[in-house]
Amino acid sequence: MNINAKHIVMFSGGKDSTAMLLRMIEKNRKIDEIIFVDTTKEFPEVYEHIEKVENYISQKITKLRIKFDYWFKDHIKTKGKSKGESGYGWMDFMNRWCTALKRDKTKKYLNKNYERNNIIEYHGINYGEKNRIKNNRNRNIKYPLIEWKMNSKNTLNYCYEKNFKWDGLYDNIKRTSCYLCPLKKIDEIKYIYFNYPDLWKKMKKLDKYSERRFRSDYSLNEIEQKFKSKN
Ligand code: SF4
Repeated sequence: MNINAKHIVMFSGGKDSTAMLLRMIEKNRKIDEIIFVDTTKEFPEVYEHIEKVENYISQKITKLRIKFDYWFKDHIKTKGKSKGESGYGWMDFMNRWCTALKRDKTKKYLNKNYERNNIIEYHGINYGEKNRIKNNRNRNIKYPLIEWKMNSKNTLNYCYEKNFKWDGLYDNIKRTSCYLCPLKKIDEIKYIYFNYPDLWKKMKKLDKYSERRFRSDYSLNEIEQKFKSKN
């Protein structure tokens, strides 16, 4: 065993990373630190869930925060076609600047705090998503859910059995992630519109600063009109 190794769990606050973390603890797997990168745009149920998990495992989760609003609306771009313009605005599949920021934040934190250690990261990719990692040759990233053959249904049931239920969020949303993400399915966005009016207001406020449309098929106003007209 490498005594210099540090075992770091990447925790998103969703069902997969929760099941991975709880089961690792059950199996007495070594965990040195648990890291959650906060975009500040998580559902309220996810923030409550994180607190609940901390109480359950009697361990604090390290929270790294990204300045989402700053990058969305204020950051002055220094390169490319839109050099000089401010804010990255709404993201799409080709332009997930927020995911890159999350990765960057984690990397900087790990480099700073574990400079002398060999880091082993644990990621909550479930068995049904195993294709996502087929090209990953990094032996220092482990996928316990794949090792345990736990798919998305298994991880949710496992969490429910332990009474982690996110107040029913998973009945309507497939992935918790950021509430404002345009990459969500239309039905999920509709659910947010009708059930989280305060969050929707925040999205509309941000929308004013974005050069990019909410999605290629709909602007935020158009999608709102669509929901209103079908109700
Ligand atoms: S869920 Fe969407 S908004 Fe949040 S970090 Fe991922 S791509 Fe960005």
